[in-house]
Amino acid sequence: MQIHLFRSARRWDSCLLPIDDNTFGFILQFRVRLVRIEPTSRFFNGETYATGNGRLHDTYGTFQLDAWTDQEWEDYKRRFVEVVQRHWSDRFILDPDRAWYRPRIGANLTSALIQCGLSIQLVETSAQAHQTYRIIHPQSTRFRSYVEEHNRSGVFTHLDLESQWGNRLTRIGSEDHSVDFLQTTINHEFGHTLGLNHVNGVGNSDRHYGVTLEQRENQMGMGGRLTAAHARPWIRGLWDRHHLLPQHHHPEDRVVFTGRVASPQLIEYWDNDWRPAATT
Ligand SMILES: [Zn+2]
Repeated sequence: MQIHLFRSARRWDSCLLPIDDNTFGFILQFRVRLVRIEPTSRFFNGETYATGNGRLHDTYGTFQLDAWTDQEWEDYKRRFVEVVQRHWSDRFILDPDRAWYRPRIGANLTSALIQCGLSIQLVETSAQAHQTYRIIHPQSTRFRSYVEEHNRSGVFTHLDLESQWGNRLTRIGSEDHSVDFLQTTINHEFGHTLGLNHVNGVGNSDRHYGVTLEQRENQMGMGGRLTAAHARPWIRGLWDRHHLLPQHHHPEDRVVFTGRVASPQLIEYWDNDWRPAATT
């Protein structure tokens, strides 16, 4: 097996580094440009556009924009990096199904595992950026933030770094319950940037955000829960980017990696219709 340490690409760069004989770190590296959208800003991003008259138009209506203060904008940029890295970095481990890595010539193969990292570097120009996100400050909270994965862009609001409760009817057993879910919008949207779809299929209908409690609480549903499926961008990157390059048709060339979540997570939903089980 040949190992390539660094790869550059349009959506993100990646870096596979040996840490010791039994451990690698695999880091997805994003150069992100955050664009401060003011009421006077003009931009066009698919269906969303502003002409500089203080209003923003998109599929869901027209939104009045507020100005940013310099302090607010600096805080937002700093917290963007913190919030996304804290949520997506060092959360997954990839386990191999066999020994595949030879640390030194003559040494035995080891079943080295891979720790999945993610890092964000903010950049100022579009030429440098993998991803360009426009950040608006709408007066209404009804704006629906989104990512357009194919053109490496997104439109987010000043509130998207905060975790917020959302209520949805959710199937529990044979009943529909009113359940509140806690989600930080930017972490859901960054999942789309990573190429992840909604938990229950591609689309923006209610059911795509899940039907069952297990789906609803998912990061790519209504909640913030990460599962092994969210490690897919890392697993795919190992092969798609040729970080791992089979050489001689040895058994280790057929190694398969399986993702798992590295640490326990909090339960972040509240079932308003929960009743204690009837006792007899
Ligand atoms: Zn989404």
